[in-house]
Amino acid sequence: MSPSRVLVLNSGSSSVKYQLLDMRDGSRLATGLVERIGEQTSRLKHTCAAGGGTREQNGPIADHEAALKAVADELERDGLGLDSPELAAIGHRVVHGGMFFTEPTVIDDAVLTEIERLIPVAPLHNPANLTGIRTARALRPDLPQVAVFDTAFHTTMPEAAARYAIDPKVADRYRIRRYGFHGTSHAYVSRETARLLGKAPEEVNVIVLHLGNGASASAVRGGRCVDTSMGLTPLEGLVMGTRSGDLDPAVIFHLARVGGMSMDEIDTLLNKGSGLFGLCGDNDMREIRRRIDEGDEQAKLAFDIYIHRLKKYIGAYCAVLGRVDAVAFTAGVGENAAPVREAAVAGLEGLGLAVDPEANAVRADGPRLISPTGARVAVAVVPTDEELEIAEQTYALVGSKPGSNHGGADE
Ligand code: ADP
Repeated sequence: MSPSRVLVLNSGSSSVKYQLLDMRDGSRLATGLVERIGEQTSRLKHTCAAGGGTREQNGPIADHEAALKAVADELERDGLGLDSPELAAIGHRVVHGGMFFTEPTVIDDAVLTEIERLIPVAPLHNPANLTGIRTARALRPDLPQVAVFDTAFHTTMPEAAARYAIDPKVADRYRIRRYGFHGTSHAYVSRETARLLGKAPEEVNVIVLHLGNGASASAVRGGRCVDTSMGLTPLEGLVMGTRSGDLDPAVIFHLARVGGMSMDEIDTLLNKGSGLFGLCGDNDMREIRRRIDEGDEQAKLAFDIYIHRLKKYIGAYCAVLGRVDAVAFTAGVGENAAPVREAAVAGLEGLGLAVDPEANAVRADGPRLISPTGARVAVAVVPTDEELEIAEQTYALVGSKPGSNHGGADE
């Protein structure tokens, strides 16, 4: 029997999230998270599906290498070790693939060099992703490893959507363009939305609203992305948990010249101290809703600003697509916050958009329609599954060549 397991690794700057999937049915054999890597209070939380329960380890884990070794040990304890012949490949989430990586790619030294070359446009993410890849390759040099890029789905955007209105020579020199992120989620959710409508992805135009702590919208025509709200970095677009999203770029000059702030201070303000958190001190939508219910004006204003921006993007993408078949809400807020979904489409009946209050209030796990029966545009809740998408893309690439040296070893 050929190997059927894929380990998905998502290496952040101080965390590693992982899932081991069985590709015969997409089931999770094990899932886990190592957080606060490099601190005294690191924590590894590991769950084995087959009766192993959840185990937790607390105490310092010095670096990504130690973290991955600890993960490998936990998997080993459950009989799911990295040296298992059942393991077909490791799929890595890589945030920035620039214009170069338009598809999932088997990792070799040249691929690593290219991911490294993209560090200037993804200084927070690509170094951590690279560390994860290098460590995993050291542990299993013979195993195919695949990079799945957050930007890849958006490389189909036409130049008119991908370019900023600045001198192309300057833009090209510094690789400034709109790359977009959350692509794995937008790809998965747009496909699942088509499936929910009983159609092929090629037949439908979908607006995907990925509303998590980070948030982005995309316009997907016939399965191909034609616009998305994040840009050179994940800062552009919607109001997010701690990021401002769109603002007049002159705000930055103003903060520097008049406010005397350094570039690093402005970067921190806009990426970490803005959005819902900057507006009202909370970035969790549950807490914001609770405060609104208690009459908190600041929370209400934060919510209104969040919704106003979301509506603007829905309207814009209706215009970009011309014909819209569905609007899909996904990620933590999109899947769980009925008031956000209701408010986002309120008053958009002219665009064919509405939610049925009863359907919207239902809490369920799977994809579901929340628009009234017979509505011109379907409004749907479609849970995202980035790990499954990464595993599927990885397996599709290497599943037929398990255990080979297919790009997995050092050349
Ligand atoms: P990310 O992957 O970007 O960190 P998620 O997609 O997991 O984020 O979304 C996290 C956010 O989802 C939380 O910050 C919170 O605002 C929101 N969220 C989660 N559960 C609920 C809920 N039941 N109701 C409203 N919002 C929720």
